[in-house]
Amino acid sequence: MELLNNNAELQAWRRQFSPEETVGLIPTMGALHKAHATLFDTARPECDQVVASVFINPLQFERTDDLKAYPRTMEQDLAMLENLKVDAVYLPTPDDMYPSGFATSVDPGDSAVQFEGAARPGHFAGVLTVVLKLFQRCRPTTAYFGQKDAQQLFLVQRMTRDLDLPLTVQACPTLREDDGLAFSSRNARLSKVARQQALVLHQALTAAVAEFQAGDRDPRKLEATMRTFFEDSPAVLAYADVIDEVTFQSAQTSSTSHGHAWRALIAARLEGVHLLDNLLLGNP
Ligand code: AMP
Repeated sequence: MELLNNNAELQAWRRQFSPEETVGLIPTMGALHKAHATLFDTARPECDQVVASVFINPLQFERTDDLKAYPRTMEQDLAMLENLKVDAVYLPTPDDMYPSGFATSVDPGDSAVQFEGAARPGHFAGVLTVVLKLFQRCRPTTAYFGQKDAQQLFLVQRMTRDLDLPLTVQACPTLREDDGLAFSSRNARLSKVARQQALVLHQALTAAVAEFQAGDRDPRKLEATMRTFFEDSPAVLAYADVIDEVTFQSAQTSSTSHGHAWRALIAARLEGVHLLDNLLLGNP
């Protein structure tokens, strides 16, 4: 596995491959866990070359305490990537990514100021800017992203389409612990008690799925059901919304859904840790 410490090293690595060879990119912020492994397991048989990036992108954190608190486990990450038979790991420094004078960023358009974007202005501009730079530098044929970050996935797919980027963005299903909690690097910051309390996110989502499957097609009622789970929970709900998967806007009525599937989104804060999850409801 090659360690590429800056863009020059990455370019030298990338130049070895002909246009016919497939290159898979998995962007990460490190603190790798089992869910990241599933992205690499998907990419490995599909691509001639698999490159990971590990970069805690300062542009997408508006709070320095959040950036500082982000877990860093580089040694373990590299051992895991080696085991996953990754060909190369790009480990840029902030200066390598954003040299002095850097000023341009991607405007993510609508759907970026709600949900994860509501309390974090500039978050998705930061995400899309670094993702676009990673796409330009790594020139992957396919990039792999987790469904767990559904809004991020939506915005990356839309940017790729809107800006004619020559690659495929592949969605990978959310990996969960046996009890339903979605794997997240942030789970490591929860106490044992909060780790159990965090199950409320998945419980609320599965209740919305059950109600949808029982025939309920009122998105506001499905949202109200999710909210009830937080009435007696120490988890502070940030949002619980039913959205149209294709537009990423709040779902309206089944008769105006144009055959688009609905997805339930949820996010909450526990012990100061921001947790998010989502589940597909289906076609209304
Ligand atoms: P991160 O390092 O947290 O930015 O995540 C890197 C990639 O892993 C992103 O595409 C995430 O959506 C994905 N990811 C994180 N957690 C999960 C999960 N539980 N299941 C599937 N993908 C995930």
